[in-house]
This record gives sequence, C-alpha cells and structure tokens, in this order.
Amino acid sequence: MKHLEEFRQVVNQSFGYARQLKKDSGKKIVGYVCSYTPEEVILAAGAHPLRILGTKETIHLADSHLQSYCCSLVRGILEEGLSGRVDFLDGMVFPHTCDSVQRLSDIWRMNIPFGFHLDLILPVKLDTLSAQHYMVDVLQKFRTDLGRALQVDITDEALKKAIRTTNAIRQSIRAIYELRSRNPRLMTGTDLYTLVRASMIMDRDRLNILLAETVAELKVKADREKEDTSLKRIILAGGICNHPDIYPMIENAGGAVVWDDFCTGARYFTELIDEGAEPIARIAGRLINRVVCPAKHIDLDGRARHIIRLVKEKNARGVIFLLLKFCDPHAFDYPDIKKSMDEAGIPVMLLEIDDPIPAEGQLKTRFEAFLEML
Ligand code: SF4
Ligand code: SF4
Repeated sequence: MKHLEEFRQVVNQSFGYARQLKKDSGKKIVGYVCSYTPEEVILAAGAHPLRILGTKETIHLADSHLQSYCCSLVRGILEEGLSGRVDFLDGMVFPHTCDSVQRLSDIWRMNIPFGFHLDLILPVKLDTLSAQHYMVDVLQKFRTDLGRALQVDITDEALKKAIRTTNAIRQSIRAIYELRSRNPRLMTGTDLYTLVRASMIMDRDRLNILLAETVAELKVKADREKEDTSLKRIILAGGICNHPDIYPMIENAGGAVVWDDFCTGARYFTELIDEGAEPIARIAGRLINRVVCPAKHIDLDGRARHIIRLVKEKNARGVIFLLLKFCDPHAFDYPDIKKSMDEAGIPVMLLEIDDPIPAEGQLKTRFEAFLEML
C-alpha cells in the first residue's frame, strides 16, 4: 500500500507529528480521550483533534493520583499529561463517559498546567426524546465553550464542511473494512489497525486524500487477488484495542479478523452524519444512533444483537472479546453478551489484556486453542 509508511510514521510518532503540524499549519491542537467526542466541532473551530490513547512509557507519575485498579488507558493518558509530553496541546476535551474518564477529567483539571479544559456532559441514557434534546444542548454549549477557548466563531458553514470531511473519512475507512472483510489477505490486521489509528492523529484533510487513494488501490488489488476461504474468520469486540501485536498472533494461528466492535475501530466510523441545516442537531443524531458503548444506555441487548448481526453478515466463526483490565463498563457488559452469544451458538473467547500485553507464547497458545475449536 502506497501510503502505509506515512500512516506508520504518524502512529509511531504521534506527538512529534502533532507538534510539527502545529508548527507548520498554526492549527491549535485539541486532545480528546473518548470516541464520543464530536471531532466535527473541533475541526469547525479550525483546530486539530488528536485522540490520546494511553502511553507506551512506564506509568509512575499517574500512580500518585489514580489507583492501580484504574484501566491502563486512563492511567496512561494522565501519565502523558503529568510528564509534559503533551504540553503542545492547546486544550483537552473530556466527554462524560465511564467513571474513570470522569475522574481523569477532574485530576487533569487540577494538575495539568497547560491548555484549556472542557468537560462535555453527555447524556447517559440515550433512548428518550429528552436525551436527544439534551444532547443537542450539550453540543451547542460545547460549540460556544470551544469557540471561546480558541477565540473563534464556529459557524454553521464550518460545521457543515467538517461534517463532509468526517463523513468522507468514515466512508473510506468503511470501504477498506468491507474490502478486507471479503478478502482478509488484502492487508494485515496490523496494517488496518495502523490506518485507523492514524486517522485519529493525522491532519484530516490530508487523511481524506490518502484514504480515498488507499480505497482505490485496494479495489484494484481485490480484483486481482483470489479470496482465501481457508481462514477462520473472527470478530474482535471490546472497548479499545491499542495492541497491534495481537493481529499477527491470530493470523499465524490460521485466523483472520474480519471486523470489530471497538472504539478504536468500527465504532469510530459507523454512522454517517446527515448533511444539511442545523449541523449541531445532526452531529447529536450520530452520537445518539451510533453503536453504543456500555458507559451509555439504549437498551439491554442492543450491543449483543449488533455483534451477532456482525457475525452473520461477515460470515465469522467466532468472537474474541478483548477486555482491558479494570474496565468496569465492558466487564459488566460481558456476561450478558456472552449469554446472548451462547444462545445464538456463537463461540466466544474472553481475553483480559493490559499494557503491556502478556508474553506472546501465552497468548498464542490461547488463540491457537480457540481457533482450533472453531
Ligand atoms: S469504550 Fe466508551 S468510554 Fe471507552 S472510549 Fe469507547 S465510548 Fe469512550
Ligand atoms: S470505558 Fe473502560 S477502557 Fe475506556 S476509559 Fe473507561 S474504564 Fe478505561
């Protein structure tokens, strides 16, 4: 793939990339921590949204503020803030999601001296009319607060342009997922991870061009290459996956990840935003209608039904559920998901992961045993 190296460099040097982008373009960099952040509003403010996804460094500073039984994502984000490695940020946005992110927000506000701090108090229950109205009000407030912090007027026209950009990005990533789902040999799981991760870091206008070219390139490749029907098709599910290393382990065991239900994957690009008048209401509509995270509520079994639908649609043989250690929302969700999968006759493997992930041999054996059973 022509642009893969650029995506890799962006992912490997995400903070260096953002610093350079700020220097070259003069754009303000706004960090965020959760996929419920409306990137469109940040883009419409002329700023650059950067998702912070934990740390690869040793966590020690964050330990003075957070219990060791907080997930490594939250502890890692705080570590990046306390260490000053993200001091180029002009501000940070914290959507109201799980308890850990809410507490992270408080600790960040009290201890990190750089950039503005914005909470986005989204509704938790998403299935009522009042929640829909409230979501619109919250986003309007966010638009005002962000505009004030960045000293810009966020216009409807700028919001509509940002919606067109994020829609195009989401359509391209979906097209890549679809092509690869039909023939997983088109690109490795690690490369797909890299591409999606880069999408949360990179300048969105450049990203849009690179993704469109990648789709075109993969379409040509798909026409040439024969589908490999011997692979055991798998869906990955969970909260986030910041572990590209697991893809080769699954692939080496004869499996292929053909779709996922992650905030760092398909949940990031599912649902487009209607284009037209009242852009804030349309952005709110997507946040209400997108595949739900267990830190929010729509119904009791919507997520399980979504995963079962994915299994059928993508012709998958099983589901591997990655549970980040100490992630309560997903841990509470899992038993019901497992029950629904059992009732539907879909094999599921639960894998608790942390930073760093367990030794390769240990994981490899577990993947091999699960795939052998399928
Ligand atoms: S799992 Fe929930 S809280 Fe975590 S990033 Fe996704 S939406 Fe946000
Ligand atoms: S939803 Fe889970 S993984 Fe995401 S921040 Fe909250 S506790 Fe951590």
